Amino acid sequence: MKQSSPEISVVVPSFNEARNLRPLVERLIPVLEDLDVSFEVIFVDDGSRDETMDLLREFNASDPRLAAISLSRNFGKEIAIAAGLDEARGEAVVIMDADLQHPPEVIPRFVEKWREGYKNIYGERRDRATDPKLRTLLTRLFYRLIDHFGDVALPEGAGDFRLLDRQAVDALLRMREKARFNKGLFAWIGFKTIGVPFIVEERAFGVSTFNLARLTRFALDGLMSFSSIPLKVWAYAGMAMSGLALAMAAWFFVKTMILGVDVPGYASLIVSIAFFSGVQLLSLGVLGEYVARIFAEVKGRPLYLVAERVGGEESPRANS
Ligand code: UDP
Ligand code: MG
Repeated sequence: MKQSSPEISVVVPSFNEARNLRPLVERLIPVLEDLDVSFEVIFVDDGSRDETMDLLREFNASDPRLAAISLSRNFGKEIAIAAGLDEARGEAVVIMDADLQHPPEVIPRFVEKWREGYKNIYGERRDRATDPKLRTLLTRLFYRLIDHFGDVALPEGAGDFRLLDRQAVDALLRMREKARFNKGLFAWIGFKTIGVPFIVEERAFGVSTFNLARLTRFALDGLMSFSSIPLKVWAYAGMAMSGLALAMAAWFFVKTMILGVDVPGYASLIVSIAFFSGVQLLSLGVLGEYVARIFAEVKGRPLYLVAERVGGEESPRANS
């Protein structure tokens, strides 16, 4: 029997969250029931090594609205979310963490905005006091960088906690890139977007699996997928280097004219080394530019997405 699709799907990526799942369900289900909509909750077990999956089986046995998929290994939160979105059938999809840092009580406010016509509604973190200082500092630096060099503006404080309309979800489903950076993808798709402020709570049980190394890797994914600055920076370095070499040549020329030669051959040698290192960096930068463009093509993202059509026939090439 094919079930009719629910109005709202909630996607919960879960990695070793056995201790948090029951408290989460106990808070989430009443909130969803109060909304008076049909719903499903899809847990994505991201290769957990604890009893997460046993619990999820138990949940489903007592309440079929609680579904789960289990990934073959730990793919990371970004891919887990993608898998959840693939499974979700709802007209709107809410994405939230399993550790109760994303309070379920905010969902009705998401739904309200959705009914007002917004399609991309993100939870706007108002309090990151729970984060360590260094992490806050690096996060801010990362947002500065992306803001400056990236192709999309990432709204400050926007994370993965959000509600997406079916239209936005379908758009995300078409981006099958491997180095996923959801925050960038959520911004890239556009659609009518709005933030709903919420207070980040303390993680209920366990510790965050995002240590500094993993976060750095993640920030690199973001910068590499949403800007080509790492490739281009060498062209600028090369230009600076060559410029410096020319300045040095001028300096040695003037010095030799006034004071004569002190170490024969030194000036010409050092100037040509500096100049040609500069030229090499510059040409690496030019190669980088091409690699950046090839990379952009290989990612195969659609060129644009149609949000609405008023009259006329849809072109078979639209949205590709
Ligand atoms: N998570 C996941 N796969 C991972 C790491 C984390 O699905 O490899 C899930 C985790 O279960 C939680 C959410 O992603 O629901 C956020 O993880 P965490 O609390 O560790 O990160 P933080 O809150 O520090 O960003
Ligand atoms: Mg957390």
